[in-house]
Amino acid sequence: MKCSDDIIRLKGIGEKTAKLFYRIGIHTTEDLLFYYPRDYQTFAPPIKIGEAAKDEVVTLELFLPASFKWKKVRNLSIGSGIGSDGENRISITYFNTPYLKSRLVAGSAYLFRGKIKKENGAYHMDQPKIYTWAEYEEKMGQLQPCYNLTAGLTNRTVAKAVEQALNCYEEEEYLPTDILQEYGLISKTRAVYQIHFPKDWDSLMEARKRLVFDEFFLFLLSIRRMKEYNEMLDADYPMIETAWTKRFIEGLPYRLTNAQLKVWEEIERDLVGGKCMNRLVQGDVGSGKTVLAFLALLLVVSNGYQGALMAPTEILASQHFEQISSMTREYNLPFKPALLTGSVSAVGKKELYRKIEEGEVNVIIGTHALIQEKVSYKNLALVITDEQHRFGVRQRESLSEKGGQAHVLVMSATPIPRTLAIILYGDLHLSVVDELPAHRLPVKNCVVSTSYRKKAYEFITKEVRKGNQAYVICPMVEAGDEGTEGLENVTDYGEKLKNTLPADIHVEILHGKMKPSDKKRIMDAFASGDIHVLVSTTVIEVGINVPNATVMMIENAERFGLAQLHQLRGRIGRGKEQSYCIFMNCSDKNMSMDRLNILNKSNDGFYIAEEDLKLRGPGDLFGIRQSGAMEFKLADIYQDSEVLKKVSMTVDRLLLEDENLETERCAPLKRYLNENTGNFIDFRTI
Ligand code: ADP
Ligand code: MG
Repeated sequence: MKCSDDIIRLKGIGEKTAKLFYRIGIHTTEDLLFYYPRDYQTFAPPIKIGEAAKDEVVTLELFLPASFKWKKVRNLSIGSGIGSDGENRISITYFNTPYLKSRLVAGSAYLFRGKIKKENGAYHMDQPKIYTWAEYEEKMGQLQPCYNLTAGLTNRTVAKAVEQALNCYEEEEYLPTDILQEYGLISKTRAVYQIHFPKDWDSLMEARKRLVFDEFFLFLLSIRRMKEYNEMLDADYPMIETAWTKRFIEGLPYRLTNAQLKVWEEIERDLVGGKCMNRLVQGDVGSGKTVLAFLALLLVVSNGYQGALMAPTEILASQHFEQISSMTREYNLPFKPALLTGSVSAVGKKELYRKIEEGEVNVIIGTHALIQEKVSYKNLALVITDEQHRFGVRQRESLSEKGGQAHVLVMSATPIPRTLAIILYGDLHLSVVDELPAHRLPVKNCVVSTSYRKKAYEFITKEVRKGNQAYVICPMVEAGDEGTEGLENVTDYGEKLKNTLPADIHVEILHGKMKPSDKKRIMDAFASGDIHVLVSTTVIEVGINVPNATVMMIENAERFGLAQLHQLRGRIGRGKEQSYCIFMNCSDKNMSMDRLNILNKSNDGFYIAEEDLKLRGPGDLFGIRQSGAMEFKLADIYQDSEVLKKVSMTVDRLLLEDENLETERCAPLKRYLNENTGNFIDFRTI
């Protein structure tokens, strides 16, 4: 068996299961190897109800004196019952799990695992997992990997498949021996094994150390080389300044901030300068980066060329498209925009491709893959990526094959402390929009515990009555994944909220697993005000602009990184009304309160990122990830910033000693780089 083999060749994986794997992006055994666990669980022996700390996830052995009662409330089926451990009783509730009706038999005992709550002196558990003793014993005393799953695919199935894939995995060591020794790193092959099936916490840390090192190392190696490559490139589309941009700036309903004007000057100078632009624009959420993108596109289009704007999500792409379309009408701009996303029909796409090729449209807005892959452009002179950091050599080359060398502008709202930005963006010129538009009311924040929830709902109701809208954010899409007990999920929460809030308040849900067309329908209805309260995962985190939304309530706020929470909060405070952000802290650890209080005190993304960096120590490595900050799988630029700095020096030293990796010492590394161009990093053949 080879690593490139389709997973369908693994034992126990038939066509149906394979399809589930494909859905989560796993096609080959190699994909499986690098599908790292999201978390690890330890299963402690069951305890007595009275021994549990408040809100702790525990396992209880409970006897059921009577069978559960099931009822239907609207379209939600609710089961409730009582369990006893001989000393105390606890009430248990299930939502939408009718298959449990036959499983839970009166007079029997089971193991229930979930978060224990105590309200008014009574114990309670929502949606606990059920185990038999045999099932539970198998899990006790080990670190169990927890994978991200999809409906129908169990953690067990994934773990079994990974185990088989590991059996055929053996990687030649590519790091020079002296580097391995200097950092005390284990082999890659062992690290991959141990990240899936660690014996204990130490062996997990050992594995993580090696893999984090590699992620940084390979990434930095590629961007160091990219910089030299980028700086040599002449732009193929000569441009001059035009009157359009000035007229557009003057026509805007607001004045650009000084920071926006400064950055626009930098962009304009690049575009007319003859060399290829490679610029990163960093600016806090709400600093007004979109208008800078439109200005750049306007300069390009008024010079007779095409420009593309890529967004990470369809929602954001269509929002940009609508904004640019309405500006085009309003200011009579020379834009001929087109929207290219997965929701466009095959026929529609074909027609669009033709128009793009023949130059009938000059601004193409869409999601990354679509814009990059199948399209031939007439004269693409500028590529902008919004809310993304990387535009690699490979992507650049695939575009230039279709025409000449385009300018590249990358826009990001992820605040990254300057010391790290210099390392991570060594290949790009950096512009910072370091000022928010004036006259904007700062968001009012509060960090509260779950007992405040009822008040929060009343507050949301009040705001909706005033004509405003609210977001509620939950960390999970649906219930059921192991290790997520006690975490709120969008699906159940949406139902609960529909039943809790007054019936005329329109509540809907939104998450990444929905069909793109459904997502768009919901987002449009929210933007137009038809939906009052949107219960969502972090899919709304990037870029969305609905100025009428004034409340954001974040459940399990302790589970998100501060930078991410700051991004989320950036969705409100965009209009004229006062906005409010409610961070619901569902943990009773002091640490989470301290962290969340940083957000409470400040609305400055860069300050927050710096403070977060200071507060984080080792430990809790898997609980919180700054998702979206960088495309690393394990490494976290905040958490692992010290490693990042060290690796950066190591890479510099290595390239200084052996610029083209020609020595014996670097031969395996060079081989590896040449064979692994398909990773997230874009290696040019060295
Ligand atoms: P981000 O930097 O997060 O992408 P946006 O570009 O979405 O921010 O801008 C946020 C909001 O601020 C938009 O509604 C935009 O129209 C508005 N805006 C942008 N620049 C200014 C400005 N100089 N003065 C007032 N409002 C502005
Ligand atoms: Mg934006």
